[in-house]
Amino acid sequence: MRVFNCPKDLLNGPCGGALEGKCEVNSNSCPWYYLMERFELLDGAPLLVEHPVVLEMERIFEGGEVNIKKSSFIKNLERGKAISVEFPIKLFEKGVREFRKVGDIYTIPDNPLGYPHISSTALGVWLKSKGYSVMPHLTAKDRNVIAITSEFRTVLEFDFEGVLITTGDWSGFMIQGKPVFDLDSSNMIRLAKLMFSGILPTGERFEVKERPFIAGTINPNYPAKLEGKRLARKILAGVDLVISQVVANRKVVREIPRILQEALKYSPHEVPVVISLLYPLKRELESVLRKMGIKTGDDIRRIVEEVSSLELGGINIIVFEETKWDEKLNEILDLLKEVF
Ligand code: SF4
Repeated sequence: MRVFNCPKDLLNGPCGGALEGKCEVNSNSCPWYYLMERFELLDGAPLLVEHPVVLEMERIFEGGEVNIKKSSFIKNLERGKAISVEFPIKLFEKGVREFRKVGDIYTIPDNPLGYPHISSTALGVWLKSKGYSVMPHLTAKDRNVIAITSEFRTVLEFDFEGVLITTGDWSGFMIQGKPVFDLDSSNMIRLAKLMFSGILPTGERFEVKERPFIAGTINPNYPAKLEGKRLARKILAGVDLVISQVVANRKVVREIPRILQEALKYSPHEVPVVISLLYPLKRELESVLRKMGIKTGDDIRRIVEEVSSLELGGINIIVFEETKWDEKLNEILDLLKEVF
């Protein structure tokens, strides 16, 4: 299946940037959004369309599945109690170098909104050298398949615990660069799965004893029927777990089992879900979230209670307070100890 008029030219859309069906780039109707919402069982069309490089790797690959490294994040994920913390990249860029071990793993953003921060994999290498577990975000944006291959090799060589793969925001808004979307998130996931099993796009083989986990994303603010298909594609591609878009409303948490059910119509199994929470959830921030299509309305305690009752996989904490990052992080960790 192929659609036209997608500025990112995605093979497997929609990306996470369709706001109420409108494209994040040009505000036109997102063709992928309406297509995926409308088709019930896709009339026999393949749900996952693969990039030629990935298809060729599959054709020549003869190895089997490699086990995931059993980090504390993965062990706690199996109990529904994993905790990841988004690394405060802006504090690092301001010269702060003292950080402590918190939760099971640090996630490291990859240039959100196209703002050029320090490379997420470079920061991952630095954090690994300090003894921390890391999960850099890696987006498809502004990397062709060769650049993405190079990033995955970094993930393997430096023994990262995992990687979070997502299509990425349109970057042309911030700086007048030429946006590149060679792969989409599903094809990136497939490429990672193959590479982490010991094959490169060049056809070369190498040994991998234990592989990093592969996380994708889920947006529970999208309609369940649509999001179920988006999730199914990622499961078919080989994702081990998914991390959610920011959740700020209990009803949205309750949509997740429906999305998982919907995905099961198209894919063979479920995957754990880690819910992203923004803290502190201030009123002025809520209006910004709503503009991004994120439903709001509940306080953080009630949302954590809801997540806890569903035992989905875990919680990803994003502390949105630079000056008091440590203090606010302690507050939310204390709340998790009490409720989660
Ligand atoms: S929202 Fe994403 S998938 Fe839809 S048209 Fe825009 S870039 Fe393409």
